Amino acid sequence: MLKGIGVSPGIAIGKAYLFRPERANLPKYTIKKEDIPTERERFNEALHKSEQQLMDIKQQLSERRLADHVHIFDAHMLILHDRSLWKDIFDLMHERLVNLEWALDIVREIYTTIFSQIQDEVFRDKRSDIHDVIDRLIDNLVGSDRRAVGHIPPDSIIFAHDLAPSVTVCLDLENLKAFVTEIGGKTAHVAILARALEIPAVAGLENILTEVKDGEPVIIDGSTGEVIIQPSKAILKDYTRRHKRERRREQQLMKSKDLPAETTDGYRIELAANIELLREVPSVFEHGAEAIGLYRTEFLYMNQPALPSEDEHFTIYRELAQAMYPRKAVIRTLDAGGDKFLSDVQLVNGMKDFMGLRAIRLCFKMIDLFKAQLRGILRANTQENLKIMFPMISGLDEIRKAKDIYYSVRDELSHEGYAIHDMEIGIMIEIPSTAFIADALAAEVDFFSIGTNDLIQYALAIDRVNKEVAYLYEPLHPAIIRIIHNVVQTAHQHGIWVGVCGEMAGEPFYTPVLVGMGVDELSMNAHSIPRIKEIIRNISFSEAQHLTDTILKTSDIPAIKSLITHFLLETNPKFAELIPS
Ligand code: PEP
Ligand code: MG
Repeated sequence: MLKGIGVSPGIAIGKAYLFRPERANLPKYTIKKEDIPTERERFNEALHKSEQQLMDIKQQLSERRLADHVHIFDAHMLILHDRSLWKDIFDLMHERLVNLEWALDIVREIYTTIFSQIQDEVFRDKRSDIHDVIDRLIDNLVGSDRRAVGHIPPDSIIFAHDLAPSVTVCLDLENLKAFVTEIGGKTAHVAILARALEIPAVAGLENILTEVKDGEPVIIDGSTGEVIIQPSKAILKDYTRRHKRERRREQQLMKSKDLPAETTDGYRIELAANIELLREVPSVFEHGAEAIGLYRTEFLYMNQPALPSEDEHFTIYRELAQAMYPRKAVIRTLDAGGDKFLSDVQLVNGMKDFMGLRAIRLCFKMIDLFKAQLRGILRANTQENLKIMFPMISGLDEIRKAKDIYYSVRDELSHEGYAIHDMEIGIMIEIPSTAFIADALAAEVDFFSIGTNDLIQYALAIDRVNKEVAYLYEPLHPAIIRIIHNVVQTAHQHGIWVGVCGEMAGEPFYTPVLVGMGVDELSMNAHSIPRIKEIIRNISFSEAQHLTDTILKTSDIPAIKSLITHFLLETNPKFAELIPS
């Protein structure tokens, strides 16, 4: 058994299919200066063909159930048109007098080296997009299609060094059971696609291509990252049973997706979805979300040639408001910075630091950018179902300043003749300081949303993307439990509602504690909603409160875990599957 990173959950049992695209024998030769215009013409032709192909893929995606992923190829289109990439290629031809294919090959290697040194997983993973685009240009020059996987036999589990998004989307889904790649992580596009297609995937298994042979029986578990080659009969039987059980559970969960998230003694919680892209709205409905609890708008700014204009903001938010109506949607203002790094504002110093110029701090510095977004949101709220939320607030002055800007923008719009409706204003509670002054902040806003991803990172001093300290990332740390509890209590004392929108909200093991604390809303990845709903519908609020009270008096993490484990098992023995190993 080998262990990589589980990037898309689920068990798959099948046969290994090794995908090793052969690099065609690239024509490499030197040229003369006067040949460069001819090479430039060849480049333009290859560029044109590549554009056509990307447009075809986008069309195919829209026709299949992959419309959400068109943006990947929008990004490829941007890379294809990136002037600095063109400059690198032509500079190389001028300097070394090499032909176009050779220049492209060198540029590809240079980018590989640069990207491999990037610490940040999200940006390192972008390397495969650049490869994909350069390979496409090369293919169009030499007239081969090295990237085609072709027909894959039934029950294939694809093993590859890396899988380009354009390869992934062209795979024969009927025969494909799972992916395993040597590189990549949770944020790689292949992982995102695998999750969207609900295909199990494991990444980051170095040298796996030398361990497994074509056609060998394999089992993969995309939740744990386990890959078992040549499983014994007993293991095979065990996984087959687990696999069947998982599928049955999922089908069963979806049956109650539209029932209310209400405990056995009548305590009602709102289950909302987190989205990054407008295209996710249908999935929000499919999984029974009652609202959007967090729209991470920073994704509007990524892979774009320019910052979004007020009208672009307006159009997108109006579409969201209309699609959701009468349900509500919380729009969070730009939270760029940290791992969500935007190319357009990358020159602003410190933006890559989690504790640097991020989110509201960046918005205060780039006031026009902030105002354009606020104007777009206010204008789009014609049906009064939008709420606004400010990220990374650390103290009273910041929320007051953000609100002052909001009010000035609102008044400006009214003077311009727009019919403007006031909106609920909330803040993310994700910097520990806010938890201690929650009373003062509650007087300023209509709601809190606890961002456990950052709250845990800052409270426990753990960089959330650093693998070395990931083991310290502990939502059940007594300090975290007490912080969340304090925030919920204070919010309620001041008559405002409070939600949790970090990853903790979508993890079934934590549900009894969050319910017991009395949170009003849990906002998560839409896929997690049916499972969380099932737990809520099986537990009693008063018992969950009792559990939380006991946990609040416990300082030992294993003891806290065992209290939750007992609670879940006593509630329903089938919840044994929710207990982390
Ligand atoms: C959080 O910090 O918990 C959160 C929901 O926001 P993000 O993950 O976008 O920082
Ligand atoms: Mg956050």
